[in-house]
Amino acid sequence: MPELPEVETIARGLAKRVTGEVVESLWLGRKKEPLKSPASEIAAALEHSRIAAVHRMGKHIVFDLETNGVSRSSANGAGAQAQWIVHLGMTGRLQVCEPAAEIEKHTHAILRLSSGRELRFVDPRRFGRLSVAQAARFDADGVEPLDVDIESFIALFHVRKTPIKSALLNQKLLRGVGNIYADESLFRAGIRPRRRATTITREQLGRLHVAVKEVLREAIALGGSSISDYVDADGEEGFFQLQHRVYGREGEACLVCKTAIKRIVISGRSSHYCPSCQK
Ligand SMILES: [Zn+2]
Repeated sequence: MPELPEVETIARGLAKRVTGEVVESLWLGRKKEPLKSPASEIAAALEHSRIAAVHRMGKHIVFDLETNGVSRSSANGAGAQAQWIVHLGMTGRLQVCEPAAEIEKHTHAILRLSSGRELRFVDPRRFGRLSVAQAARFDADGVEPLDVDIESFIALFHVRKTPIKSALLNQKLLRGVGNIYADESLFRAGIRPRRRATTITREQLGRLHVAVKEVLREAIALGGSSISDYVDADGEEGFFQLQHRVYGREGEACLVCKTAIKRIVISGRSSHYCPSCQK
């Protein structure tokens, strides 16, 4: 499942490839699950619209659309605004390809672009979702972890009675921080995943604030080199290039102190930590 850094990388890759394109027509498959908005609404928002920008919000990829068509222009003459929102779910992919490229099984949407290329949404397991928002109103739950300032970060967590690991994964607090990046951030901040958030000092939360951003930024920087591979081909491999210090290293020696890394389960998710470096 793509996490925030992968979604950021994919959004940046798409922005380079499709910004400025006009969607000439749209084909949607018959499967209902991938469509979170009615097919007619998705078609109305996308067809004849110009892709003004592509960016990430949480784990969503958001296409800002401008519609300058006569029938839909607003009273002041400016192009109406809408957004196409893609959540990749477990196995969703967006491909930019030539029309001659073979249409893969599990293709649920094809956007024909003004350059002659196509943007396709492929998703074998169908946990991905396509929706539209009018008037650029889409808002993902939670606060953007790369933008949140230290006081807001502390305010989000210091009242929580749950383990800090669960609070980090709570998408209503921070949007888009997944299991791997939560474990890696807690290791860097020296905080055990099971610690109740309310018991963590301001100073430690300050360290966690820095660590979350550091881990996500490093992963984004690493992901940047494989943008083209990801958008075009099918490998999720090659993405988690961040050197994990604790995640998936149960029983291996801590890279700092050589203590064996422990694995515990918190709210049904594996959590990895160093019993010596993390308090
Ligand atoms: Zn250690």
